[in-house]
Parts: sequence; structure tokens; C-alpha cells
Amino acid sequence: MTISPKLQLQQLILLQKLDDEIVEHRNQLADIPVQIDSEFKELEDKKKILSIAKEEIDTLQKNRKAIESEVQGENDHMAKAKTKLPAVKTNKEYTAILSEVDAIKKKVEGLEDKELEIMEVLEDKQKGLPAIEKKCKEEDSHFQEYKTKKADELDRVTKEMNPLLAKRETVKSQIDTVIFQRYEKVAKSRGGKAVVSLQENICQGCFQQILPQMVINVKVGESIHQCSSCLCFLYWEEVSETVMPK
Ligand SMILES: [Zn+2]
Repeated sequence: MTISPKLQLQQLILLQKLDDEIVEHRNQLADIPVQIDSEFKELEDKKKILSIAKEEIDTLQKNRKAIESEVQGENDHMAKAKTKLPAVKTNKEYTAILSEVDAIKKKVEGLEDKELEIMEVLEDKQKGLPAIEKKCKEEDSHFQEYKTKKADELDRVTKEMNPLLAKRETVKSQIDTVIFQRYEKVAKSRGGKAVVSLQENICQGCFQQILPQMVINVKVGESIHQCSSCLCFLYWEEVSETVMPK
């Protein structure tokens, strides 16, 4: 069965369209896991505020406990000092113990002030925690929605692939083997583009001028032509004034 050059050219144009679509699908298939991954990393970043807040609360509680035990220690110290009082013999000793007790009292007051400050901050942080937890939960569910959407997209794109590949086989069967091989070779070397339009006398693959005779032949469309500079297959495309060339 011989297929007319005119029909083959139509099939070449179709083949290019299919291959463009196939590439687009493959890119999408490769991109989707990357997109999910980057969204997940963003989620983790957003959720860091929760672990930071929890850590802050934990540190404050530890600091508070440390101050409490320091106060306890100072109070014991003070009680011990006071027990010495009945046995005191001189005024000097008495005064010394009293000033020791005073000093401890002041220290305890200072510690208690510090504890109060910590407790205030702690209270604020604890009050703020539910809002942060809520926000994180929302972010979690947004991510789950995004993931489901992307999984659906992946599914759809995967399902679309087989019909495209099958259609490509059909189109391929209507193109002469030698021409098909040339198409593949050009496509491989030119980033997937092997069939381009000719607008005026300019090849849209390499933007070089085409010789007038070939322009006429391409315009007639009864034979298959390749650009002599980039080797792309050429088809005629009328350029209207309102449409910008691609
Ligand atoms: Zn060209």
C-alpha cells in the first residue's frame, strides 16, 4: 500500500501533535511527585511553629521547676540558719545570722519574682497553643486535599497515555518507514520538534529563509519537504494580519 505524500504530510503533522502531547504527559507524570514532595516540605516548615511553641513551653516549665527547687533550697538554708539563733551567745553572732537570713529572704524574693515572670509567659504561650495546633491541623488537611487532587491528576494523565501511544502507532503506520525514521532523527536532535510550519518564506523551526521553489512546493502540499538548514518537515501555514506568528 502506498500512501500519498499529501496524506503522509497530514500524518506527520498529526504525529508531531501527538508527540507534543506525549511529552507534556510525561513531564506531568514526572512533575507531580516533585510537586507533592515540595508541598510536603512546605507543610513541615509550617508545622515547625508548633514544635517550637511546645519546646518553648517545655523550657519554661523546666526553668520554673529549677527556680522552685532553688527556692526550696534557700528556704531550707534559712530554716537552718534560724535554728542557730537560740544558741547564739554574742550580739555580733546574732546580727550575723539575721543578716544571713535577710540575704536569703531577698534572694528568695528575687527568685519568686523571676518565677512569676516565667509563669506569665508560660500562661500566654499555653493559651496560644490551641490556635497553633488548629492551624497545623488545617495545614495538614489542606495538604491531604492537595495530595488527593494530585493523585487524581496522576491517575488521569496515566490513563490518557495509552490511547495517545496507540494513536501514535496508527499514525506511524500511515507514514513511510524512511520518512518516519527521518522524523525521529530530527525530533531527537531538535528537542522533539520535527514538523514545523512555513510562514511566508520563513521556516518556523530555524527561522531561515526557504528558497522560492520550495516555498511553492510546500504551499501546494502535494509532496514532502524538509528545511535544508534544520531538516524539519515543512507544511504551509497562512499568516493572517491579526495572528502573530508562533
Ligand atoms: Zn528550518
